[in-house]
Amino acid sequence: MTGIPFANLLEPGTGILGAGTGSPGVQRVTRHLSELREAFRDQAAVERLLAEGDPLLYEVYNVPVPEDPGELQHCTSVIQPGAVGEEFFMTAGHFHARLATAEVYLCLRGRGVLLMQDRAGEVVAVLELFPGAVSYIPPEWAHRSVNTGPEPLVLFCVYPGDAGHDYGTLREKGFAKLVLRDGGSYRLADNPAYR
Ligand code: ZN
Repeated sequence: MTGIPFANLLEPGTGILGAGTGSPGVQRVTRHLSELREAFRDQAAVERLLAEGDPLLYEVYNVPVPEDPGELQHCTSVIQPGAVGEEFFMTAGHFHARLATAEVYLCLRGRGVLLMQDRAGEVVAVLELFPGAVSYIPPEWAHRSVNTGPEPLVLFCVYPGDAGHDYGTLREKGFAKLVLRDGGSYRLADNPAYR
């Protein structure tokens, strides 16, 4: 037997995870537009937003769990409402470093989409995110969360301890599809920069 049981405390309205009983603590990681500028299609819109400041795109409240088989990583992601030109605020997106690992998202607040694609970017899947939606990301699918609504999008995520993250593949290639504003809703478009 390894490890010591612990608990944390989740505020469903904000997604903030606070340290609870016996907790190893919770790490807060932030991503601002300047760190993700290449991910967006409209670079003129990126420059305009950066000239006004450097908006927060999302934050992750991560529970530090050993990166070992049998463990369960878990965190909350809070994606801010907004857009860069027509393209909604979103996470960087990743494959798992160990590809054969899945993930579950529980949406607690807001509206959005979970954008997924296979290794080649030829097969794309989209699931709607809304409070109560429990989304399953099977092994080998890249995943990105996009906030298409007017309030923060709050997700609780659970995945295998040794899954790891591969951000590099998508930083080079991008996603095959863009999620763009369309009146009060969204539409998918082909990413002209997809390699
Ligand atoms: Zn993941």
